[in-house]
Amino acid sequence: MQQEHADLVVTGRIVTMDMQRRVLDDGAIAVKNGAIVAMGTAADMAKRYTAARSLGGPAAIVLPGFIEGHTHCTQCFVRSLTSNELPMIPRIYSPAQRSLDAEQAGVTVKLIAAQLLRAGVTTMCEGTLNPAHEPAIVQAIEETGIRCALARGAPDQDFHHAALYEQLRNKSWLKKRPGEAEADLAHTEDFLRRYPARGKGLIRGAVNASALLGFSETYFREGAAIARKNDATLQVHVGRDREEVEFCLSIWGRRPIERLADLGVIDEHLVAVHAVLASEREIELLAEGKAALAHSPVECVANMNAIPNLPRFRSRGIRVTLGCDNQGNDMFVAMRAAWLIHGAKFGVGAYDPEFLTAGELLAMATIEGAQALRLDDLTGSLETGKAADIVVLDGNAPHLLAMQNLPSEIVRFATRGEVQQTIVAGRVLYDRGELTTIDLPAIAAQARKGADYVRGVVGERRYKPLPSF
Ligand SMILES: [Zn+2]
Repeated sequence: MQQEHADLVVTGRIVTMDMQRRVLDDGAIAVKNGAIVAMGTAADMAKRYTAARSLGGPAAIVLPGFIEGHTHCTQCFVRSLTSNELPMIPRIYSPAQRSLDAEQAGVTVKLIAAQLLRAGVTTMCEGTLNPAHEPAIVQAIEETGIRCALARGAPDQDFHHAALYEQLRNKSWLKKRPGEAEADLAHTEDFLRRYPARGKGLIRGAVNASALLGFSETYFREGAAIARKNDATLQVHVGRDREEVEFCLSIWGRRPIERLADLGVIDEHLVAVHAVLASEREIELLAEGKAALAHSPVECVANMNAIPNLPRFRSRGIRVTLGCDNQGNDMFVAMRAAWLIHGAKFGVGAYDPEFLTAGELLAMATIEGAQALRLDDLTGSLETGKAADIVVLDGNAPHLLAMQNLPSEIVRFATRGEVQQTIVAGRVLYDRGELTTIDLPAIAAQARKGADYVRGVVGERRYKPLPSF
């Protein structure tokens, strides 16, 4: 038989995360021009293909590249300054992000991509907020070669939330800045022409209407229409903290997700980000509209907003993508954190071993996350025709040797230490300790400087001084 050429063949125990959740014990994947062209047993594939490069081996564990479902690159210098500082978004996060110049923003992207790639993440989801950073962020993403769902959008309304004692003489208010929604959404439409939401490129555009506070009714309605027209996601932070719920109640007499329902924007394009304070009625609204949830488990603890009722979201069929949100850019950490926090709250609390299975968490970090972000035609599982987004783990690590249930034990025991290669669209971007597209020593000094700079900008805004150790 005439052998065919492949750019790359990856062998090992292959956890496909396909519809049947097949695991190929002695399998192989052939990659050509960035895509998976064939899968089968290692023996058959060795007969069929000559490969320019071979990775894996009999002991390797091969997974779909992880999907990181929610982050903001420009928050990476400030992450530890926000911990235990609620409410902190206008006080710390936003000024820290705004203070960065374009070059610093580019460094944040590379710093985050470096962390994600070495932890086996092949796709991240970025919600850019500051248009001044946008070209630098896009350029840095393209240079790293990581896949990215990039939701763009800038706020178009001023608001004031009257705090507890201030409400005695004042009220919350909001005021739309005329024309800004239309102008910014025109940029989003242009962005979606360059980076189509269903395109084959590394960047897929999406619509960001970050929150009900800063984005007007016009922005939400027209942004949702653009998302539908382009089959893009509409990404909205909603039900995130008590201040937002209070604000929505004070302005509209409605909770945040109820307000989204009133605006007519809950459909299969909506990704509700966080929704940690969603009431049962609001979870029902998301389920009826077939919306998805982006859930950042470590963020729940780091910023103490709340722990969402994930089993309830799951039981109503809501697709979930797991985000890192800068709180450890590592999906092994995100999966395990979700397992522990929901286990403690819903499993231990109800003496229910089936509160959430580890296999479900692996799905949220791969194929289900891809579905939530409307990327599953391209990535999220290992199947012929999809992009070659692959992570290869060292199955000889002592804690991975006595496997009884591979998907479940990956969630409970594997770490980024076992990642040998991270491959995006057939390119090996992380290879046994080396990042092939990111010059880490070159950005290290810039990253340290950036972190010092941001501490100078927002340090005095913290309630508490930084601990000395
Ligand atoms: Zn966010």
